[in-house]
Amino acid sequence: MNGSVASRAAQSVNETRLLDRHAQLASIGAIDPVGMNRQALTDADIEARRLVLSWAAERGYGTAIDDIGNMFIRRPGRDESAMPIVTGSHIDSQPAGGPFDGAFGVLAACEVLEALEDAGIVTERPVEVAVWTNEEGSRFQPTTMGSAVFAGQLPLVEALSATDTHGISVGDALERLFRELPIPDGRELRAPFAAYLEAHIEQGPLLESAGIPIGVVTAIQGLRWFTVRVDGETGHAGTTPRSRRRDALVAAVTMVGRLSQLMDDPGDVVRFTVGRFEVEPNSPNTIPGSVLFTIDLRHPDANVLAALGDQVDGICQANAFGCRVSVVETMNAAPTVLDAGISQVIRAAATDVGLEHMDIASGATHDAKYVALTCPAGMIFIPCRGGVSHTVLEFASGEHMVAGTRVLAATTAELALG
Ligand SMILES: [Zn+2]
Repeated sequence: MNGSVASRAAQSVNETRLLDRHAQLASIGAIDPVGMNRQALTDADIEARRLVLSWAAERGYGTAIDDIGNMFIRRPGRDESAMPIVTGSHIDSQPAGGPFDGAFGVLAACEVLEALEDAGIVTERPVEVAVWTNEEGSRFQPTTMGSAVFAGQLPLVEALSATDTHGISVGDALERLFRELPIPDGRELRAPFAAYLEAHIEQGPLLESAGIPIGVVTAIQGLRWFTVRVDGETGHAGTTPRSRRRDALVAAVTMVGRLSQLMDDPGDVVRFTVGRFEVEPNSPNTIPGSVLFTIDLRHPDANVLAALGDQVDGICQANAFGCRVSVVETMNAAPTVLDAGISQVIRAAATDVGLEHMDIASGATHDAKYVALTCPAGMIFIPCRGGVSHTVLEFASGEHMVAGTRVLAATTAELALG
């Protein structure tokens, strides 16, 4: 690490400013008495963006916006032709969410620019804050829309035509945003970054239970979805001997039991969920004729995810009890491995700042997942209370926000210096 400069950036993080700004941002779209409803491209989102831009204007930073509404705030570097180090997240929320998911990463990124400024650090590369559009995907689907379009993984025209439940399209909502927030500079999609950093609340319980303030995210886990349909035969519960039955429910629960055993791992890393279970005809005195259930399987390691997911069909077929079984895979999204070099810089930054850290895989998806396809990317997690998010109870402490921001500042400074 370029110790002294990175440390100075970290030490210049101003707790009062960070927490004041958090309170200001949290007041926009606040739900009474607690919580946040600031869905993408609503009045509240526009007002929140206006607030973030006002902080940029105080420092005279340049701002730019791209065709999907992702905003960029730029602190110049010595070499303005160099690719920037970019850090950010999102400020949209779930309809009944909290003021930390996403917002923390944008606040931390803005504070990094301030800290560099206050410490009088001139970086070689420009440093930019990114505010990604519609990460949550609650008003418009899909999730992580802005970063997906940015990274070329979702066609712009497709994103623009997505509509909310009132029939308003992303295109219409964006036109309003562009009118309300005149940002003179356009930005091309896929503009190259030297590196991308995102700070975020963990949204899981691991850091809190370990009592460790900093998570160095090594991967964002992948996901496989299956729908299993089991067709047996209905019959009278009182007259049909068990030996003559083809009971779809007995077969299905046996499958779930066997799969559940398969998914047991000593590290408790595998995520296995049967979230939907439909029984027909669902009558107390009729043998269940058919069952449909879903499987949501997640793991950060592509090989483990493949090995486990590939056994689902075989286990279901082996426990059919005479029923007809069909297993359809409806989604297969590979894990995202974050950049090992950047993770190492984050670890060194945390050590430098005097904060304990641990490696962690992200259970939730993030804008970094898509940005990582375009440049080396890293993520910094801080604990959140009870591991909960997407609820009004979501909470992260000021102490942890400051800790995460200091690590982000040191990491950004280190990467932007040379
Ligand atoms: Zn988020």
